[in-house]
Amino acid sequence: MPLGVHVSIAGGVSKSVERARRLGCDAMQIFGRNPRSWIYTPLPEAEARLFRTLRKEAGLFPVVVHTNYLINLTAPDDGIFHKSIDMFKKELGIAEAIGADYLVTHLGSPQDMGPAFALKRVSLALLEVARSGLGRTTRVLLENTSGYGPGFGSRLDDIGRIIRGAKESGLDAGLCFDTCHAFAAGYSFSTPREADSLAKRIEAEAGRGSLRVIHLNDSRGGLGSKLDRHADIGKGAIGAEAFRHFLNHPKIRKVPMILETPKDSDEDDLRNLAEARRILRGIDRLP
Ligand SMILES: [Zn+2]
Ligand SMILES: [Zn+2]
Repeated sequence: MPLGVHVSIAGGVSKSVERARRLGCDAMQIFGRNPRSWIYTPLPEAEARLFRTLRKEAGLFPVVVHTNYLINLTAPDDGIFHKSIDMFKKELGIAEAIGADYLVTHLGSPQDMGPAFALKRVSLALLEVARSGLGRTTRVLLENTSGYGPGFGSRLDDIGRIIRGAKESGLDAGLCFDTCHAFAAGYSFSTPREADSLAKRIEAEAGRGSLRVIHLNDSRGGLGSKLDRHADIGKGAIGAEAFRHFLNHPKIRKVPMILETPKDSDEDDLRNLAEARRILRGIDRLP
């Protein structure tokens, strides 16, 4: 299964390819643009072309783009909601221009409006995305969240409902499953039995074939803590043993994985990649 990390786009998106290659990644994730700003500067076509060329040469698959943190597809405020849809479409445009396979997004927060409102809101947003004709070459993936505060999207059945609705709107969306967020939201996979039932639940609730990418992160918070705090692989509350059970599952083992573990320097990524590979090699030795 392809394994990679989230790499920086400092100096331009095309610069990220060399960073991923240097770390020995098979897959990679980037932000399409500054993740904490509403200011949008279009990506020059030459830069997009350079990214595509370098990526092809490096043989990286999949390329995942993560959306801006300000985008809130469940915002009750109409201004923010429409601004979010607009920015989402622009970022999907960037992802398609660079030939990315997936665009991963969080589902935002409906504040005190509740999950039923959030579900309607995000479905409306995705309908507008579908109508724009975007999302055909880059598939939109919805990421499960940790369930902190009024944030939406921690439940797999909710994500499944959105995916089914999007399909009816003509948008073939999928799931990006974050192990830290899931654990924090109360989904346990600490024993082989729990791992098996979670793998089956992902398929049953999000839909067969929906799971496209795994964000492989350990968790600083405990099971059900709702804390979105990533930890180094094997060093958090999830632990290497649980990852071994989960990643060994036949429904999980071929899904590409991206690390979003804490990072001060490349050494941190290299250490986490090595630990993830060690766990995956352990899988081969299991009966
Ligand atoms: Zn994630
Ligand atoms: Zn997170």
